Amino acid sequence: MSKYLQMWEDLGLDIDKHNVLLDALPAVYQNVYLSQENRPEGMKYFNFVVSEIHGLRVKELVEHKNKGGKVFGTFCVYVPEELIIAAGGVAVGLCGGTDFSIPAAEEVLPRNLCPLIKSAFGFKLSRTCPYFEVADLVVGETTCDGKKKTWEIFGEYAPMYVMELPQCKGEQDKELWLHELYRFKDKVEEITGNAITSEKLIDAINIVDARRAALQRLFDLRKSDPSPISGLDALLISQIYFYDDAVRFTKQVHELCDELEERVKKGEGVFPKGKTRVLVAGTPMPIPHWKLHDIAEKSGAAIVCEESCVGTRSLTGDTEIKGDSLDDLLQSISERQFKVNCACFTPNDERIDDIINLAKEYKADGVIQYVLQFCQPFSIESVKVQKALEKAGIPSISIESDYSIEDVGQLQTRIEAFLEVIG
Ligand code: SF4
Ligand code: SF4
Repeated sequence: MSKYLQMWEDLGLDIDKHNVLLDALPAVYQNVYLSQENRPEGMKYFNFVVSEIHGLRVKELVEHKNKGGKVFGTFCVYVPEELIIAAGGVAVGLCGGTDFSIPAAEEVLPRNLCPLIKSAFGFKLSRTCPYFEVADLVVGETTCDGKKKTWEIFGEYAPMYVMELPQCKGEQDKELWLHELYRFKDKVEEITGNAITSEKLIDAINIVDARRAALQRLFDLRKSDPSPISGLDALLISQIYFYDDAVRFTKQVHELCDELEERVKKGEGVFPKGKTRVLVAGTPMPIPHWKLHDIAEKSGAAIVCEESCVGTRSLTGDTEIKGDSLDDLLQSISERQFKVNCACFTPNDERIDDIINLAKEYKADGVIQYVLQFCQPFSIESVKVQKALEKAGIPSISIESDYSIEDVGQLQTRIEAFLEVIG
């Protein structure tokens, strides 16, 4: 990775701190990922992406900028990537998934805030993530209180734009969101200097939908028993979805799926048939937050689906194009997005239905509700989810955790006990 030193210096990274972060990754990846048995050959590409996590992809983004292109950092699946692509920009996910950057954030933000927000903010403050430094505009949204109040401070450190995401799904909320899409379109055009035409927007919608369809194909294959891929590997792919080049990612996922389809035809899986199948539902798990999957699969579970924005929520629906004017297209984008059931909305009964349907579709023996510490929307909603799962006769446990490794032993004990009950 030292071949990228000049690039990191040019981006203004704190090289010493950044070295500490990068030096820690190979051992963790070896222990969590490379030690798995029977991995598909197609995972080699994704191993490569991780080995180049702050290298090749960042170089591509820098080259894009050198040619006059712009990069947009995003935090939520509600930010319409289609508009960014249509204007010739590139979107990269900036959510933080490591406790490495949290101490820097806690020098400014309150400690009792969710680790995802602190990790992301800490990366900016400590200048240890090249994706934050390469972004021309950071796009936040008013989803939860933690995020929306953090953006006010984040804006002191980086060019920031905030989309107002409504908290309900009534007609007036849909109107507000549509208005926000128009406002964002103007902003993207201003930053890139490029007009968004309906032709370009249709192309961009097709790119984003094709990527979503590829990941959906992977998820569909996980419905087989035995599952042809581990939950850990599927989680990694869902994480890479947010920062890899969209067209290349789509191709690589399809190649992997071709291989997995062969496995399914032969009745082969990454685990033996009849392994205890678990659905994980809850808060997103940004890279490299692999803790829950690692513990659960090493304890004997096969994680077969993630009801999460790093999972099925980012796969929600296709964009139904009903007309080719810009107005029609923005309407279609907004209609698709409103099918995403995030705990930031109220009421949010559709998410509960989603979880029960997913548990059935993926033939899960049980559900682990996973909530990041201090995440009020998902934590409070877990009460209703648990009741609904009980009513549907689906066993579940709720786990609250963070990015540290301090609770690994405790989580392992709880998960092992749960697997014993449902297995
Ligand atoms: S969980 Fe909610 S706020 Fe977070 S990325 Fe998903 S939709 Fe956005
Ligand atoms: S995990 Fe919860 S608290 Fe954290 S950003 Fe997402 S919705 Fe907000």
